[in-house]
Amino acid sequence: MKRGFLELTHAELQSWCEAQGQPRFRADQIRRWIYEKRASSFQEMLDLPKALRDQLDTEFVLFRSNIVNHQVARDRTEKLLLEQVDQETIECVLMREPDRRTICISTQVGCAMGCVFCASGLMGLKRSLTRGEILEEILLLDRVLGIGERLTNIVVMGIGEPLANLTALLSALDEVTDSKGLGLSPRRITISTVGLPPKMRELAQTGKPFNLAVSLHAPLNDLRTQLVPINDRIGIDAVLAAADEYFEITGRRVTYEYVLLSGVNDQPEHADELGRLLEHRQAHVNLIPMNNVEILPYVEPTAPRTAEFVRRLEARGVVATVRKRKGADIDAACGQLRLKSELPIVK
Ligand code: SAH
Repeated sequence: MKRGFLELTHAELQSWCEAQGQPRFRADQIRRWIYEKRASSFQEMLDLPKALRDQLDTEFVLFRSNIVNHQVARDRTEKLLLEQVDQETIECVLMREPDRRTICISTQVGCAMGCVFCASGLMGLKRSLTRGEILEEILLLDRVLGIGERLTNIVVMGIGEPLANLTALLSALDEVTDSKGLGLSPRRITISTVGLPPKMRELAQTGKPFNLAVSLHAPLNDLRTQLVPINDRIGIDAVLAAADEYFEITGRRVTYEYVLLSGVNDQPEHADELGRLLEHRQAHVNLIPMNNVEILPYVEPTAPRTAEFVRRLEARGVVATVRKRKGADIDAACGQLRLKSELPIVK
């Protein structure tokens, strides 16, 4: 079987070019076609010798996934359902705002974390995505953009736990942040994690100023374990300590995500307790209204209740924002990806 071209690192591509009796700079030429000119085939790369293009075609496939569904929401959010070579599917999303184009990407097929309100974990983890598969999501969404439109931000908040697939993710992001790749600053990339302390430290050690978002969802261990089962083995203190280290090493203020579930973690005491945890930290709270998952019992609180939650956090000097919902009419909102394509009962 042909290899996925995007699995090759730049160094590997340079070596491959040399092995074909070609100068190493051919690797940069190929990258320019892929990242700048949004090529979708090797034959388009007209400044390469024909023999090299043919050799690329013989050995590699540039894009290996099939776009099996492409939906566009009323707010121009677009969602791709991508079928991988092993028939597994993942989703990724493009969101537009006047001054930004943000994409949300997946890192695994399914998820092992089992957060009780999230659709992605309902069927467990199938496998992690490879570097090439992650990069392919990014490049396919980049090709959805218009000629004058450029990608400005990436959030790694799709299906899966990014820090459980950190090596592949970082390898893909190397191409994204490289000036000869997409040239996007790590400051425009946010990695969201359930909170895996050793991996948070490893991420800090890369020396790249990625933004880190930690899915806290509860200020007390009992409640957090109920919502985020893996917390049983980790605990809030360890998550916060690793996040503090992340801030110290990278200088990037950590975001805490908190999905508001009516009657579960939205009480005034929860807000006060969360405020107490974060008031002496360089933190920002991103409240996410629960996005409906048809087979799950959780719903978002009323607007006044959400406003009260924000007010209580602000009373302690904690900056809090409520996440805007995007692409709701095509099930592109967070926590809903992939489910409908997999579970016949909610089709
Ligand atoms: N595994 C990573 C990325 C998950 S998705 C993490 O846990 O952070 C990004 C965010 O969406 C997480 O905070 C996740 O808890 C949240 N989320 C999951 N399901 C949701 C739902 N149904 N409604 C709102 N937010 C949800």
